[in-house]
Order: sequence, then structure tokens, then C-alpha cells
Amino acid sequence: MYSRYDDLSYTQGSRNMPWNPGNNMDVYYYFIDGLLIDTGPSNLAATAIPFFQSNPIQQVVLTHIHEDHAGMAGWLQKHQRVPIYLHPGSLEEALREPELANYRLDIWGRRPAFKAAPIPDSLHGDKYTFDIIDTPGHYRYHKAVFLRDKGWLFAGDLVTVLRPTTIFSDENLTDMISSLHHLLGLPFHTVFCAHTGIHRTGRELFTRKLDYLLALQARIGELRAAGLRDVEICRKLFPQSDSLNRVIAADFSSLHIIATL
Ligand SMILES: [Zn+2]
Repeated sequence: MYSRYDDLSYTQGSRNMPWNPGNNMDVYYYFIDGLLIDTGPSNLAATAIPFFQSNPIQQVVLTHIHEDHAGMAGWLQKHQRVPIYLHPGSLEEALREPELANYRLDIWGRRPAFKAAPIPDSLHGDKYTFDIIDTPGHYRYHKAVFLRDKGWLFAGDLVTVLRPTTIFSDENLTDMISSLHHLLGLPFHTVFCAHTGIHRTGRELFTRKLDYLLALQARIGELRAAGLRDVEICRKLFPQSDSLNRVIAADFSSLHIIATL
């Protein structure tokens, strides 16, 4: 009933983006060797729950606490009583339900409170060891999951968007560059993205994103050296104001790209 990829089981749900009708954002659920990687958002509970119930989940790891990854953690804790591992920096935050902006509630739904355990450096299943890698950038407290035996990398949201033109106010692209560099030092080939699925030649996503960010950083450096202020650089590099910028300007902006590079 669910898709298989080697000995991994996965499924997928989809949400519509209110500011961009017809443009959906997918969510992928991955389960391997007793480990569930991310829980998906609470708005996709009808997709998630049957998947959780048909796979023998022994432990759950969250790449980060955003509601589209941790939205079902509370449900899993209550109904399946499995340990949920999370970056130590987000443990406190997990204990309270956040007050999310309306557009986030519309897309992904609530992120109920849950009690997580600090994520260790590695997690052990019956068959495999999963290395947990610190990868800030998309969010300060973000982890990737590396299955060395197979050369597989569960990348959370690191390569969901390859050429960002707007980013969230809590993203940092200089950190993102370091994380991409660090991961490219590991022997992985296949990438499991939380929103774009399975990529057999996934290293290529990492090099493409890294090349884009390094070129952007160099260009910003030149413009700064020429005396331009960040607002002016932003207008020059990202002239078309994204429709998203208008809807939720405070949370999500192109200017923040300039500020963090
Ligand atoms: Zn995220």
C-alpha cells in the first residue's frame, strides 16, 4: 500500500499554497529500520496516521521543529508512545504550542506541544546506525540524518529550495553555506528531501545550491564594496517583488538574504 525504496517505506501528502493557487507543497514521510524521519504537519493527519499505523515505529527523529515537520509529534507521543528526538536547542520550544501566523496555520495547521529527548550523535535501529549531523542554515537548530551504510542522506529542508529569492527571518545563508560544505564532505549519493522526495543523484542538488549561494555572496560583496546599502543591493538583485513578499513581508523577505550573506 505504501511506496518502497529498497528497504525504506514512504508516502506523500500535499498542501496548496494560498498565495500561489495551483502551486502545491508536498510533504514526504520516510520510515526505515524502526525510525520515522519527521512527522509531517497536523493538517495532513489523514495521510500521516495510516502511514504511522502500518509501520512499526520504534523511534522518531525530527530534522527541526517547524510545524510541517513536527506537527504530528504530539499525536505520535500520545498514541504510539515512542521516543522523539530533537535538537537540544529546540527542546524547550517543543514543550509549548507556538502562536503561528495565520498563513502558516492555513497551510500546515497547529504544532501541538510535545516532550522531546535530546538527539544523540547517532541513533541505532536493528539493522543500521544513523549519524545525526548538525546543519544550521534553514533553521538554527536543524539536523540531517546520514545512513552511511547506504550512502543516504535525509536532508530535512536543506535543499528544498535550490535558488532562494526570499527566505524566512530565522534562516541564515552563511550558516547554510557551511552546512552544505560540511555535508559534501560525507560519502552520500541519494538525498531524501522532506518536500521534494527522493533524489538518486542528490549530491548534485547540494553543489547547485552551494554554487548559487557562493556566487550570490560574491556579488553582494562587490556591491557592498561599491558603497551600496543592503536595501539597494536587494532592489538590484531581486527586482521582482515576490508575491509571497507582499503577503507575509515581515516573516519572509529577499532583504534577509542580503543581510545574512
Ligand atoms: Zn523548515
